[in-house]
This record gives sequence, C-alpha cells and structure tokens, in this order.
Amino acid sequence: MKISGKTRLAGLYGLPTGHSISPAMHTAAFAARDFDAVYLSFDIAPEELAASIQAIRSFQMVGVNVTMPYKREVIPYLDELSPAARLSGAVNTIVNCDQRLIGHNTDGVGFMRSLADEGIDPIGKEMTVLGTGGAATAIIVQAALDGVKKIHVFNRQKPSFAAVGTKLREIGQQTHCQIELFDLADEAKLAYCLGNSCLVVNATSLGMKPEDPLPLPAELLTENLAVMDLIYKPRQTKLLALAEAKGLKWGNGLGMLLYQGAAAFTLWTGKEMPLDVVRPLVV
Ligand code: NAP
Repeated sequence: MKISGKTRLAGLYGLPTGHSISPAMHTAAFAARDFDAVYLSFDIAPEELAASIQAIRSFQMVGVNVTMPYKREVIPYLDELSPAARLSGAVNTIVNCDQRLIGHNTDGVGFMRSLADEGIDPIGKEMTVLGTGGAATAIIVQAALDGVKKIHVFNRQKPSFAAVGTKLREIGQQTHCQIELFDLADEAKLAYCLGNSCLVVNATSLGMKPEDPLPLPAELLTENLAVMDLIYKPRQTKLLALAEAKGLKWGNGLGMLLYQGAAAFTLWTGKEMPLDVVRPLVV
C-alpha cells in the first residue's frame, strides 16, 4: 500500500471501534482494486458526532461505516437516505457524493447475499425471524424489499412490543410484504409459523454465551427449514449445531459481516470487493 498526496480516507465511526475487522478488510480491498484510499477506525464521543459527520465533507472523505451506538443518531445529519436506511431507521454506511452525505444500510443486503452461499432462497416464500433489534430490523426490511412474501417475527414481550408491531406492519405496507409480530413465548404460534416458513433466522443475541439456551424449542426445527444465526462468535451456536445434526441447511453471521462490507465497498468505489483477498481476513 502506498500513501500519496491524493490518498483519501474512509473509516468507521462508533464507540468503541477497536475490535473491528473493517479497517483490515477495506484497506486490503482498496489496495487490491488500486483505489487510492485507507480506512481507519474512530472512537467518537457523543458530543463530537455532529462535527465528525461534518468532517466527512471537510476532509473529502470517501465515506464511513457507522456502528453502535450511532446507527440511528447519524440520520439527522445526513442529506439523503436509501430506502433500506429510511425503513429500518438505521444507517451503517455513509457515502460522500460531492459533499452530499447519503445514508445506506447494507446489513440486510449482506444477510440476503449470505443466503445464496448456503443455497437458501426465500424470495416469494415465508420466513421467520427471532428478535426485533437493529440486526433483525435490517434483515426484515431487506427481505421485504427483495420480495419475501411473508415475515413472521417473534420477540419476547416488553413495554414497547405493541409499538414495535405497528412499526413492522408499516414496513410491510411500504414494501408489499406481510409482516406480523408475535410473542416468542407463544409456542403454538411459533410452531405454526415455522411450519409455513422455508427459513428461520436467529437475530437475538441468544447463543453468544455457552450457557445460553436455544432461542426456540429444539423440536420446532423440522425438515422444511433452513437455519441462519446472525452470531459469528462462536462460529457454530447450539442452534446451528442442532440444525447440522438434523441435516438442515445452516449458516452463521460471517457471510452477513463480509457482504455488508462488500456492499459498502461498492457504494464507495463503484467496484466489486475482491472477496478472495478479504474473505480470509474475516473467516
Ligand atoms: P439488539 O439490537 O440489542 O437486539 C437484540 C435482540 O435479541 C432483541 O430482539 C432482544 O429482545 C433479543 N434478546 C436478547 N436477549 C434475549 C433473551 N434472553 N431471550 C430472548 N430474546 C433476547 O442487538 P443486534 O445488534 O440486533 O444484534 C443481535 C444479534 O445479531 C447479536 O448476536 C449480534 O452479534 C448479531 N449481529 C450480527 C451481525 C453480523 O454481521 N453477522 C451484525 C449485527 C448483529 P428484547 O428486545 O426483548 O431485548
């Protein structure tokens, strides 16, 4: 990698960001595609967020990725949002288009692309998502935009449950997809929805710790289902080990991680990310 007087900057804004593999991924990809830029991570204090966004313009940065806790907070400072960013209310990629800052959400695109690697195609079919957090919302929005017919969403009861259900129905209306929220404790409903689904996605954080229970009863994983878990540490959660033992198609969150980055790279450079170079850094 050569730094010149014309080398441009891309980066990651969040707090904290030190654990991220994005700097390694993108800097390697820029070099492999002869795109004269480097990518660094920046821990941004909340009171510095507005100035940091303005710095994208001032420093003529290529753009940035945005991670926790700022995926929603950056929105008021942007000039335009992609449909996925608008519908999900979250931005993970900002593109600097001649000083106009466009917010995108590539998490859902990354997830949908990762399905193809496992031979899973939910388009025109029904799927079930466990969880309603940021990752769940991003994949629900993209699945609906891409043409999944019906999405059954399950979450544990909480004070905001009804409001979340209303928001999901609105996303469904705007994307011509039927989206309904149910109580994760309602096993009969979960069994019924899984029976109609080709895919179940664990988008809860259950499975990250070894002592975590399965996010759904084991007997509900029936032979019609493919199973995706957004978790990538560990590489195979208890849920995915069970899916493998039952002979089901399954995949972890590494594909989503890789392809959300690939989509951001293309938005910034107009080029395909060199996956042969980047995949070994992620896996
Ligand atoms: P989040 O916004 O905090 O959402 C967490 C979700 O998990 C919520 O729906 C939450 O339910 C649910 N949950 C947490 N503990 C639970 C429990 N004990 N029982 C049932 N549900 C529980 O987090 P997020 O950013 O969406 O991340 C969710 C998962 O996706 C994490 O494991 C994360 O590592 C993974 N992820 C992967 C990628 C990738 O690139 N592969 C990207 C982002 C996230 P409540 O609303 O009731 O709390």
